[in-house]
Amino acid sequence: MRENGFVTEGSYEGPYCVGCEEFKLPGDLTAGTGDNAGKECCPVHSKPVEILKENNYFFALTKFQQPLIEHYQKNKNRIQPESAYNEVMSFLNQGLQDISMSRSSVNWGIEVPWNTEQVIYVWFDALLNYATAINYAGFADNSNPEQFNKYWPAVHLVGKDILRFHAVYWPAMLMAAGLPLPEKVFAHGWLLVGGEKMSKSKLTGIAPEQIVDHFGSDAFRYYFMRAIAFGQDGSFSWEDISARYTAELANGLGNLASRLTAMIEKYCGAVLPTPGQYQEADNAIINLVAASTKAANTAIDNFEIQQAVSATKDIIDQVNLYVTEQAPWVLAKNPENESRLHTVLYVISEALRAIAVLHHPVMPIATESLWQMLGAKESLGDLADQSIITAGDWGQLKPGSVTSKLDSLFPRLEEEPTSV
Ligand SMILES: [Zn+2]
Repeated sequence: MRENGFVTEGSYEGPYCVGCEEFKLPGDLTAGTGDNAGKECCPVHSKPVEILKENNYFFALTKFQQPLIEHYQKNKNRIQPESAYNEVMSFLNQGLQDISMSRSSVNWGIEVPWNTEQVIYVWFDALLNYATAINYAGFADNSNPEQFNKYWPAVHLVGKDILRFHAVYWPAMLMAAGLPLPEKVFAHGWLLVGGEKMSKSKLTGIAPEQIVDHFGSDAFRYYFMRAIAFGQDGSFSWEDISARYTAELANGLGNLASRLTAMIEKYCGAVLPTPGQYQEADNAIINLVAASTKAANTAIDNFEIQQAVSATKDIIDQVNLYVTEQAPWVLAKNPENESRLHTVLYVISEALRAIAVLHHPVMPIATESLWQMLGAKESLGDLADQSIITAGDWGQLKPGSVTSKLDSLFPRLEEEPTSV
């Protein structure tokens, strides 16, 4: 960047938040309340900012205002979701200032290579790590110079409070160095408690292990992927996660898997039966599995994780309805219905096979158990090796595979946690 002429010397004075490690623009600040009344505060940390003045090196950010605006006008999908895109464009259109990239008032840090009186600013150094950690210019490992080109450009998944670093400053630095820009910057939202960002320093955090101890890690992952649109803010509540655990996981998916394996054991000696002729109701499930898988795959490509989970849940809901309507326990009473019974059990099994593949990234433990229940490993291999793109192709489970009855995927919950 310096060799290309984008590093200059100067002095800078401005409001600085220690929590953010960032100089703030006057327009970013909020008025303090309580002990901080009359002071200007960081909007993220609600703590007073310090006024810092220093001689140091500047990065010529102003030179990149127009190139960045043009880049994002041409490539709208490089910043997601749309609210994040709009925020960055409005910031760029307000105009940029050259920005301090070194400090002289601290004696810890990475020395500026051409002036050891200064250290590289923490925000600047942190961004450089995206390149140096994957071995840009052999910084990490001289023997493997191709590593950087293999991994870069990449997608950044970041909290929305550090969007500006990743969608403005960092791409400008890359432009200055003549390197490719990020493929995409996706800004996710905050977890809110009482309308404010959940925060360790404000003690409004809920320890993840409290939730995991009660519901299990799969339900934890499922809840946050399912209940909050990726990219938006969302609130966590014990009532909501309890309700979804019971309705969607224990009664929805867990119960379906238990009923199926119990019926295959009882009616077919724990051997997956061969399906007969498909009827309209069977074809409806077959088509739904194909369509939902396609929808989930597209949603994942677009980082719409909530829609992907929801597409998979559609299959679970419809198959539960199918079980009620086809009533295999009634079919089993008359030996003349054997072929129909086998078809129905096979359709449920195949739908569960697709569900296991689609839900595996979200709930790795429960879906592994489901894979084992279906006896899928012998004919299809490891669950983790299955592809979501082909998960909707019908008829992958081999009749004759041995199924197993395992413990409930999502056991009934103990009493409600009392500490919260
Ligand atoms: Zn701050």
